Amino acid sequence: MGILEKMSLAGKKGFVTGAARGIGKCTATAFAEAGADVAIVDIDFETAEKTAAEIAEKTGRKVIALKCDVTDEAQVQSTVDTVVKELGGLNFCHANAGVCINAAAEEMTYAQWKKNLSVNLDSVFLTDTIAGKYMLSHGGGSIINTASMSAHIVNVPQPQCAYNASKAGVIQLTKSLAVEWAKRNVRVNSISPGYIGTDLTLSSEFLKPLIEKWNALSPIGRLGKPEELAAACVYLASDASSFTTGADFCMDGAFTCF
Ligand code: NAD
Repeated sequence: MGILEKMSLAGKKGFVTGAARGIGKCTATAFAEAGADVAIVDIDFETAEKTAAEIAEKTGRKVIALKCDVTDEAQVQSTVDTVVKELGGLNFCHANAGVCINAAAEEMTYAQWKKNLSVNLDSVFLTDTIAGKYMLSHGGGSIINTASMSAHIVNVPQPQCAYNASKAGVIQLTKSLAVEWAKRNVRVNSISPGYIGTDLTLSSEFLKPLIEKWNALSPIGRLGKPEELAAACVYLASDASSFTTGADFCMDGAFTCF
């Protein structure tokens, strides 16, 4: 089998959380372009439905929208059950939903801390273990988690200790699951994007004025585009990455190199 055939997702089924927009929308589009049927999973159902219709139209694949708050165990279980029923199986998933709360540590409330940890880390535990349980008993699968370069460095000048801690947790959770499941054909990897131009950054009145400062600190000198992350995710979801598990793919224009 040639390399392009190995990277094809034809016949595979998967879902992406936080896929109504931004990075998740881009990876879901790429999965469908590579031949997979995909579920767009998001708390924002209205946008998820529009995104699903757009991707289905563009790719001709089966693309469904599912409403799910990824911090709710019952909703994640029901999402996985519905994906299996509606798409006919589950070969890969991308646990990508996340939020960023910017507050100085001494002013951050415990509620803000818990919200950031819950959406960014607890949800990855729920998504990975519930999807993983299905994959372990159905021949295997591939799980991709969205971490961040904030797992590796402390961003400046904006304070975001809970976000940074949550993303570092995502990488160590990824590695732990990869080790536990390596011999059972379920692979778990993460991506660590640098600053990417999405609503999370571009629509935040607090973050928008910082973009020039970030670009000045960045070797590549610009924000990444969400579509610049997609090919690596297709690779990780595909059989071409069969020896890759427990890895973290830093895609940050060399931001974390010094
Ligand atoms: P975004 O805000 O554009 O999209 C996030 C999506 O997640 C939204 O559609 C939102 O509705 C959904 N979501 C939020 N909470 C949810 C919940 N509880 N349940 C289900 N869905 C929920 O953000 P983005 O920039 O596309 O970020 C996606 C991921 O990438 C996040 O995990 C983020 O931390 C990470 N990341 C982003 C950047 C960046 O610079 N944009 C950099 C590194 C990592």
